[in-house]
Amino acid sequence: MKRKDLELKDYIEGIGIGDIAILSRAISLVESKKTDHQNLAKELIKSIYPNTGKAKRVGISGTPGVGKSTFIESFGTFLTSIGLKVAVLAIDPTSYKSGGSILGDKTRMNKLASDKNAFVRPSPSGMTLGGVANKTRESMLLCEAAGYDIVIIETVGVGQSEVAVSKVVDFFLLLMQPGGGDDLQGIKRGILELADLVAINKADGDGKINADVARREYETAVHILRSSEEWEPKVITCSGLTGEGLDNIWDNINNYYKVMKTDDKLSNKREEQVHKWFYELLLEKIKNELNTNKKIKKNIEDSYKKIINHETTLLDAVDELYTDIME
Ligand code: GDP
Repeated sequence: MKRKDLELKDYIEGIGIGDIAILSRAISLVESKKTDHQNLAKELIKSIYPNTGKAKRVGISGTPGVGKSTFIESFGTFLTSIGLKVAVLAIDPTSYKSGGSILGDKTRMNKLASDKNAFVRPSPSGMTLGGVANKTRESMLLCEAAGYDIVIIETVGVGQSEVAVSKVVDFFLLLMQPGGGDDLQGIKRGILELADLVAINKADGDGKINADVARREYETAVHILRSSEEWEPKVITCSGLTGEGLDNIWDNINNYYKVMKTDDKLSNKREEQVHKWFYELLLEKIKNELNTNKKIKKNIEDSYKKIINHETTLLDAVDELYTDIME
């Protein structure tokens, strides 16, 4: 049976009372490529915008197998057990590269997904990374308006997606594991530069000793890289399996907010992120127009022919077209 289409007021009302089914449909609306959906989504984001910004925005990343889903399930359950509402959004770069999906391969975080104070949403497929990150940003706003206290954005630690997520979140938690190619040589320095906390996961049973060794190694590396910054990331051990160290991670996140709330640091950081998004989306729109506007496309073709026939030079043609477009 076809579901009844929702109107703007239905979305606003549903999100206002934290209705998970409506929130889910609102995120689908935001992810939709249909023009009428996109227009409605824009209206929706505009309407709920005053109710956003109150959540803690936390990115969690780590290479496949490091234990992200196990960790987020435990950590999310820990947070709901202390009375908080948690939303988990995923960014999976493989879903648009290969059509396959690391995050979607298995049924993930079942326990957390069935917790009434949690909301778990996989990443949209068939989009560019920039597109996914932007939709994730809008989905995050919807979750905030729906009353979630923490929005966790999960990424697979392969590099680019962390950079995209760092433009959305306040706090970045990097999960590592001892050995397994995740050692210092193997890990990209760029990711360490983005982290606000490094947690060596799987510090349980026989893994505890190795985790401690890895922690000391990372501590030195992080200190060298980041000690000059106002927030020097700590390196700690934890276990998503046993739940050890989760409270320590939560304390660390809260400390971060305490520090960032002095001197407007947090609002400055968020403003800077908005600034970057604004610029990126504007550039994307302009590029899109260049590629799709019939008149501009024809002018480009004409200029191209003139260049080839030596009727004009490349630089002159670019100047001429640019002036033409800007008029
Ligand atoms: P993801 O690919 O990063 O989401 O990792 P998963 O959560 O799916 O975990 C990958 C593997 O590591 C699974 O076999 C888990 O059972 C195991 N694992 C996850 N977390 C822990 C942990 O804290 N301790 C131990 N010993 N194993 C873990």
